[in-house]
Amino acid sequence: MNMAKLELIRGDITVLEIDALVNAANSGLLGGGGVDGAIHRAAGPELLAECVKIAGERRHIPGGPCPAGDAVITGAYRLKAKHVIHTVGPVWRGGGQGEPELLASCYRKSLLLAEEKGLGSVAFPNISTGVYGYPRDKAAALAVETVKKTLGETPGIKRVVFVCFDGENFRLYRNLLGLQAGQAF
Ligand code: ADP
Repeated sequence: MNMAKLELIRGDITVLEIDALVNAANSGLLGGGGVDGAIHRAAGPELLAECVKIAGERRHIPGGPCPAGDAVITGAYRLKAKHVIHTVGPVWRGGGQGEPELLASCYRKSLLLAEEKGLGSVAFPNISTGVYGYPRDKAAALAVETVKKTLGETPGIKRVVFVCFDGENFRLYRNLLGLQAGQAF
């Protein structure tokens, strides 16, 4: 059994010192707003250059270069993190279009990718709960459940940090995790 620590932080994911920081990217992998924009601004132009290269290599993938539910890994450049895992959440369309499976896949594939690369700590933003419109309560419950389940397959991962930027997500995760939470800023 994996005894990995689940942590909760309210703040900006770009400042974390962590092995892998997860980006809520879009399927083009070419940057966007929200947390994606913040990560690219903090990492510098080299991150976009690597994403462009990966997008080119994956241009034939249907719904791609990185379809919803999938994940790819890059360097982290000017960030304090060591790597960025770019995963693409589903756009909320009422919940009957496979959104829960796709969101679960984001968390699962990100952890499996980190494990495969030998990374021991991973930080997640609240994927899909910004412009993609996934209801925060449903997304938070699914994220915690999926991470707990997947950790059974990822013995190398010792620390998972949920990073909440807004107060509503923070309160939801605090209730779900039932723990004392720290402040990142
Ligand atoms: P999506 O398109 O997947 O909905 P967004 O970036 O719009 O992605 O939002 C995802 C979540 O990231 C939202 O809950 C938003 O509040 C949060 N967020 C935005 N900026 C940051 C940041 N710098 N650090 C951590 N989380 C952030």
